[in-house]
Amino acid sequence: MVYSYPARALIDISALTHNAKLLMQKAPQTRHLGIVKADAYGHGHASIAVALARAGYQAIGVAQIEEALTVRDALDLAGFSDVTLFSWVIPADGTLVATEAIERGIEVAASTAVQVAMLADCANPQNPARLHLKIDTGMSRAGATLEEFPALVEAALASDSLKIVGIWSHLSHADEFSEGGVEATAMQKEVFEAGCKLLSEAGVTDFIRHLGATSVTLWHPELRYDMVRDGIGLYGLTPNPAVATSAELGLMPVMNLVANLMQVKRVVAGATVSYGGTWKAPTDRWLGLVPLGYGDGVPRHASNAAEVSVYSGQRQLRAKVVGRVCMDQFMIDLGPAVDENGQALPPPAVAGDATVLFGNPLKFPNCPSVDDWAKACNTINYEIVTRLGSRVPREYV
Ligand SMILES: *Cc1c(COP(=O)(O)O)cnc(C)c1O
Repeated sequence: MVYSYPARALIDISALTHNAKLLMQKAPQTRHLGIVKADAYGHGHASIAVALARAGYQAIGVAQIEEALTVRDALDLAGFSDVTLFSWVIPADGTLVATEAIERGIEVAASTAVQVAMLADCANPQNPARLHLKIDTGMSRAGATLEEFPALVEAALASDSLKIVGIWSHLSHADEFSEGGVEATAMQKEVFEAGCKLLSEAGVTDFIRHLGATSVTLWHPELRYDMVRDGIGLYGLTPNPAVATSAELGLMPVMNLVANLMQVKRVVAGATVSYGGTWKAPTDRWLGLVPLGYGDGVPRHASNAAEVSVYSGQRQLRAKVVGRVCMDQFMIDLGPAVDENGQALPPPAVAGDATVLFGNPLKFPNCPSVDDWAKACNTINYEIVTRLGSRVPREYV
């Protein structure tokens, strides 16, 4: 496909399928739910949900209930009406969207008695809302605390427009093996099991338990229960590069962010680059202009820190982002424009050459990884891919 936009995110569906199969193999005894929240971590939720269903995922999860409706449409259209959808961010005034979601069989989370009452109003006994009760086991995000949990169960059991189908929670330290991290996880496990016991004792028999994300699929067999919720691993990225890198885990990056150089220019020694002149050319230099900026989700923190890979004919080189990242463009240092003897050097790349910010090194040799960018920008790989702007076309390959 031809796009006029000077950059694109190549989304490699075969890499996604590889990762999905790998995660299913790592934890073959449990159900796998594929997480496609935040537009599938920037990869495009409709296409990713369908590809996951094709790869064998029987359940898909998405945070926002409104996104769940789009994903439901995409799955139904592709013939996957049997794939379960689960959504857990329930807006306080979400009656309208919740009614549609429940009508369409989307399973929803409930953390408070108020939410339970709202969801009951959106459902009816012929088509009850299918609830996963959320217990806060220590993350202090959504969920009822263990103290509040009996009241939540009671509220959910009080209406015949509701059916409890699951209990779930989320771990705060599952990707961390420090003493504190291990302790926190053990504590959360204990609270979770206490919640499961309360639910059984309240007379609920047929429900599933789920606690963990990718880090549990990879690193915590004891926490898998009936289902795991795989997110970052599906996109070929590690939950924590300090524990194991994506490559060590056998994961394949799905997103490749490519832009074509807009201009190559020569600047003289001492020239400063971009707003505030935070980078100064040490010698006469060749600079490349990359037509992407923070308006596309390229972090401004990448200024003077991240690297890109440039492909010019047979040549490949790494070039550093120099000066501040602008809204729509940034500059890279392509190297010296004169040699030690003062002889002019030709530009190592020309306008139109491909630059890869990050991607799969098997596709783009020696290209930086999302983790390289995360490190340069002092953040996590999740944020780098998820914040890629919606105006960058996604091309599925
Ligand atoms: C994001 C998220 C996941 C997936 O986490 P990963 O670390 O990306 O695997 C699972 N469950 C919940 C509730 C989440 O918010």
